[in-house]
Amino acid sequence: MLLLMGLLMFSLAEAQQKERKPIDPTLTEVWTPVPPKVTPAENNAAPSDAIVLFDGKDLNEWTSQDGGLAKWTVENGALTVKPKTGVIRSKLKFSDIQLHIEWRSPSEIVGEGQGRGNSGIFLMEKYELQVLDSYESVTYSNGQAGSIYKQGIPLVNATKAPGEWQTYDIIFMAPEFTEKGTLKTPAKITVLHNGVLVQNGFELRGPTEYNMIPMYEPHGKGSIVLQDHGNPVSFRNIWVREL
Ligand code: MG
Repeated sequence: MLLLMGLLMFSLAEAQQKERKPIDPTLTEVWTPVPPKVTPAENNAAPSDAIVLFDGKDLNEWTSQDGGLAKWTVENGALTVKPKTGVIRSKLKFSDIQLHIEWRSPSEIVGEGQGRGNSGIFLMEKYELQVLDSYESVTYSNGQAGSIYKQGIPLVNATKAPGEWQTYDIIFMAPEFTEKGTLKTPAKITVLHNGVLVQNGFELRGPTEYNMIPMYEPHGKGSIVLQDHGNPVSFRNIWVREL
């Protein structure tokens, strides 16, 4: 059926190149496949086909770096970094995803630049979308909120004031590798920060590095990792849809 439709479209397109005149409009209607129905999120909940990673209650979907119990604080529907306990990792591993996550930098302002409200969201454990209080605090552009750390400068600074909840809506496409282990397609990311586009299909140069040049190495699925950078940044309403 799909092949037939394809052939029909192809011959129609060919005919239109020769002679551009209106055709029967039903010939350009495609009725299959029918997209599955999804009930969209209401009242800050997740869409019906999402995997909920944190709904305000517990850390059941997360572990600490070594696979033990995640040690961050759950209080009033939010999850907060407990400094020096290390990162937390999603138990499930993902590749291509849509991710919704909300975060809040501490209302009590401490530090400056990279030291103020720093955390991060690592896709596939390797690629960091920066979380930082960039409201009224200066740092390098490729390290501010909404940046792909040390790689991609956000298009704009859409950061809200410390103490306010902010959203990231992320579409992440995993890198692809050839059988020989060379890079076929780089990782790609689109990010809306508080509903504002800050990364538009940005192609990553490799895993996030602090003091080295990024370099791809082949890998499979990976956890979502939230960073402990020593600041009590909070998160809530975390859900993911596999693409
Ligand atoms: Mg960070």
